[in-house]
Amino acid sequence: MPSPSKSHGRLSIEASRTPRTLMPDTPELAGAWKAKVLTLYPEMFPGVLGHSLTGRALQEGLWALEPIDIRMFARGKHRNVDDTPAGGGAGMVLRADVVGRAIDFADKGHDRADWPLVYLSPRGVPFTQAMAQRFSKARGITLLCGRFEGVDERVLEARQVEEVSLGDFVLTGGEIAAQAVIDATARLLPKVLGNAESTEEESFSNGLLEHPHYTRPAEWEGRTIPEVLTSGHHGKVAAWRQAQSEAMTKARRPDLWAAYQKAEEGKR
Ligand code: SAH
Repeated sequence: MPSPSKSHGRLSIEASRTPRTLMPDTPELAGAWKAKVLTLYPEMFPGVLGHSLTGRALQEGLWALEPIDIRMFARGKHRNVDDTPAGGGAGMVLRADVVGRAIDFADKGHDRADWPLVYLSPRGVPFTQAMAQRFSKARGITLLCGRFEGVDERVLEARQVEEVSLGDFVLTGGEIAAQAVIDATARLLPKVLGNAESTEEESFSNGLLEHPHYTRPAEWEGRTIPEVLTSGHHGKVAAWRQAQSEAMTKARRPDLWAAYQKAEEGKR
């Protein structure tokens, strides 16, 4: 992929002008799931998403990516996107007016019901596989990446932005979190994984962690592969994997295990 143009930062945005996409070399097939990313660093995209299965799927137009430079929506002589926090304290805050214009540009023509608007934030609801599934069923998603101290609260309220967290830690910006959300979502889209992998049996999809995997060599540093896996008995393999999944979930994630047991009881 050629390196993205650096000139977008100087483009001024008027009502009639469409900011240009930074991913002109990837096809945009009508109806393909699309991620719009509002960021101060559009050159960070596609990043990891441009490689391996997600990268190939992007090239094939199975999904589309549109990084949008928040700076294009700054106005005035200095084109500031951020300012000092009201009430004092360290750091800078992204301005509500600039972010508001960026959101409105990205959101135009979309219905929240099938096009979620998400701010990546450590205060958000922790991202889960269920959320990735919900996002993959939408037509697309708009992701807002914060930087510095974050975004002026008023724009999050006014545009009813859903806040999603990657976990209980603080990143310097939302871009890594956005790429994680897009990766987890895009791999659930039809044909993105091809036959290479199954999304049905893996961790979380059935409420359990996945069983361990083994491959050649049959013996490594004196360690062998569990015998049942080489028995050729599909029923026994399935039962062994289920038991391993349950034991691993019980030991490592008591929270998931409790939820799984409750769901199983509900089925009875
Ligand atoms: N002052 C904020 C942290 C700002 S970090 C606070 O204490 O809550 C700067 C940006 O990084 C945030 O605006 C957000 O977009 C992103 N970010 C940081 N940690 C994140 C996490 N755990 N999940 C998702 N995004 C995160």
